[in-house]
Amino acid sequence: MDRYPRKKTRQIMVGWVPVGGGAPVTVQSMTTTKTADVDGTLAQIYALKAAGADIVRCTCNEKEAAEGLARIVPRSPVPIVADIHFHVEMALAAIEAGVHCLRLNPGNLRKPEEIKLVAQECKDRGIPVRIGVNAGSLDKRLYEKHGGVTPEALVESAMVELGLFGEVGFDDVKISVKASRVPLMVEAYRQLSELVDHPLHLGLTEAGPPPAGVIKGTAAIGTLLMEGIGDTVRYSLTTDPVEEAKAGRTLLESLGLRERKNVDLIACPSCGRAEIDVYRVAQEAQAALEAREIPLQVAVMGCVVNGPGEARSADLGIAAGKHRGHLFIRGEIVRVVPEGEMVEALVEEAERLVKEGFEARLAAADKGASAEAERDRMELFGDKGEDANASEARVELIRRRLDGGALAGPHGTGPDGTGPDGTAATGTS
Ligand code: SF4
Repeated sequence: MDRYPRKKTRQIMVGWVPVGGGAPVTVQSMTTTKTADVDGTLAQIYALKAAGADIVRCTCNEKEAAEGLARIVPRSPVPIVADIHFHVEMALAAIEAGVHCLRLNPGNLRKPEEIKLVAQECKDRGIPVRIGVNAGSLDKRLYEKHGGVTPEALVESAMVELGLFGEVGFDDVKISVKASRVPLMVEAYRQLSELVDHPLHLGLTEAGPPPAGVIKGTAAIGTLLMEGIGDTVRYSLTTDPVEEAKAGRTLLESLGLRERKNVDLIACPSCGRAEIDVYRVAQEAQAALEAREIPLQVAVMGCVVNGPGEARSADLGIAAGKHRGHLFIRGEIVRVVPEGEMVEALVEEAERLVKEGFEARLAAADKGASAEAERDRMELFGDKGEDANASEARVELIRRRLDGGALAGPHGTGPDGTGPDGTAATGTS
């Protein structure tokens, strides 16, 4: 199902989840709770898993956090990565807590002997590491050498760390080179992927709140994924991390890199023809279908005139018209329902489609539905005509104004020679 062939990388195991080496691209996120708050953190981890996260990272910044990890890891539904910055002791404590992976920031944990100590310990215990370079905490020496934060500096930081790991014979590693500027981040990953075959963890750091954060993250991560680069992804959004997991999952599904896990709701943008409040119906349908984890593409269309045709490729859809909803499966009308029952009927049909399959549901179609729908459609054409937005009347009005109609005189003056505000026009000729 891969529409974008992946660059070949070696595979590592983060707990029971494979990363790289042809494994499905995974979604990651990070908890925002205090790791010492075991129940709160676990609740968030479960919410992240439900939203599509395959792997979750928790900070391990203090003794209480490490103790929390020891209690969280055995109860977590997904593998846990411990985020380590300044303290080697925290890395060693996280290992004792049984985490499935460490994230080390080369810019913050700098002493070679400490890095090698952690690498040796991870090697002995079979725990992989993410070398997590971040533009915001780039090693000062590299900053000076490269004259700032450049793709080359980010890549060199990762390669130096990889070299230290190599000194103890440890290479169970994935790598990230994150930055908050899209072109910088994309270029750094491109360069890195030319140099190593380690799995790459993609992320645009500090992307900010949605929607801008999601757009920037998608520009960066999506570009690389379409080039075959990247084995696991994380959106860094300034919001509930559940949104990060949803964004990651949606991106992968939309690129055909992961199977659809939940509904993909498409809806028309609405226009003058709309017979219902498309936004409200779409939101209600999204919430109801998402809660049931229905892995179908479902369309909500504002009118029956164009709706089923426009959404022909959707698995299932509904279009509104004449106070009724036309329910269709892959463009074929199967039922006509009262307007007030549209969402309910859509959800019921979606559940039956998942359970019984397309053939069975098409065979069970109401035989008269198609003719009934056609009648509604033709009546609507009659009521509204081809020009539902009255655009031709507007064009006529514009012509009348500009071509010497009631308001406009020649050269932008009014019919009496005054300017648009009624004052005397001061022509130059
Ligand atoms: S489906 Fe109907 S209401 Fe929706 S955008 Fe198309 S023409 Fe307009």
